[in-house]
Amino acid sequence: MKKKFWRCFVCNDVHWGFKPPEICPTCKVAHAYVEISAKEAKACLGPLPEPGFTKADFRRAIEVFAAPNQFKVNPDTERVDLLLEGMFSNEQNHGLRYCPCRLRSKDFEEDLKIVCPCNFLIHETYQGLEKGECWCGLFIKR
Ligand code: SF4
Repeated sequence: MKKKFWRCFVCNDVHWGFKPPEICPTCKVAHAYVEISAKEAKACLGPLPEPGFTKADFRRAIEVFAAPNQFKVNPDTERVDLLLEGMFSNEQNHGLRYCPCRLRSKDFEEDLKIVCPCNFLIHETYQGLEKGECWCGLFIKR
């Protein structure tokens, strides 16, 4: 099965997935999505904001992401800064903020699995240990 693009006919929210959401997370209308082309999805999303998403923006985003969860951003700021350097250099060279500690397979869908934050809850380094952390140590258990 392949992921497709879907657009809410009420608020133009765009979703990429196997199925459309039952309820639009933006306008809360039920059964509101229609399948659309990638071209239409790109047009609906509009031009990317400038000057872009900085390391500080990303740092804030992952703090907000971690806040309600059982993990937090590693308080070792030197380590975090180093990881962010790697991710942002991957973004500049390869288009997305790929994990700085793992190699890309060059298969786009497969490599989406290592865009940071990845699904690190399944990593042995996180699950197996009391003081677990993601593969790179960007996130650690509280
Ligand atoms: S292992 Fe950690 S640093 Fe690497 S992508 Fe996953 S969350 Fe990000």
